Amino acid sequence: MYLQVNGLVIRSVDYKESDKILTVLTDTAGKLTVNARGARRRGSRLISASALFAYSEMSLFENRGRYTLDEANTLELFSGLGRDIEKMAAASYFAEVLGTEAEEDRGTGAEVLRLALNCLYALSEGVHGVKKTKAAFELRYMAQSGYMPQLGRCRVCGGEPRDAGLELASGTVVCAGCASPGALSVPLGGSALAAARYVASCELKRLLSFSLPDAELETLAFACEKYLLSKLERRFKTLEFYRTLEE
Ligand SMILES: [Zn+2]
Repeated sequence: MYLQVNGLVIRSVDYKESDKILTVLTDTAGKLTVNARGARRRGSRLISASALFAYSEMSLFENRGRYTLDEANTLELFSGLGRDIEKMAAASYFAEVLGTEAEEDRGTGAEVLRLALNCLYALSEGVHGVKKTKAAFELRYMAQSGYMPQLGRCRVCGGEPRDAGLELASGTVVCAGCASPGALSVPLGGSALAAARYVASCELKRLLSFSLPDAELETLAFACEKYLLSKLERRFKTLEFYRTLEE
């Protein structure tokens, strides 16, 4: 049976003598494992579509739940990523995050794919800073994956949060004065909170249309990363590598 999808390669691993096993985030079929037979052979017509971060129209052949890549027309390679190690590190982290959750069970594949494409494009073209793109990706990814934080009124007093913090476990904002002792939280006040509200719910194609002074961007970036890590409850090797570049 043949299946036509648009798909982004988020993992590409050498297999046997000349194959590649791809993890592909698709628009209509969730996340699939796909064998690209002979993709490492010189002259293979599957070479570019099998590269990490390649986005292509794909014709897949399915046999008993296994997919092989039959034909591909590559639409975007995000080649700007390969020219900058920090961008590549951030993109690799996005890919590892995208590979973690089981979107195929949630029916959110198309939205997550659009988020991934937007953020990879921003990195590749360098229109927005890496730190800003990473923060927006993390928060929006969480929001789309069933972990939308409550960024409105203070959970305790019900007012506009003052000197707000984001409590990681509950995913709610509270004023500094209302915070429960012992609850793990990260600062998320003022314009960083306003930016977080925007990122969590704006139109996806306008995701990066906000600006923040450096200090507030640091606050936002720290909060988004900590929130993602606390909810997904795992380490990301690619994030650790990215951090070594920041130092
Ligand atoms: Zn309060």
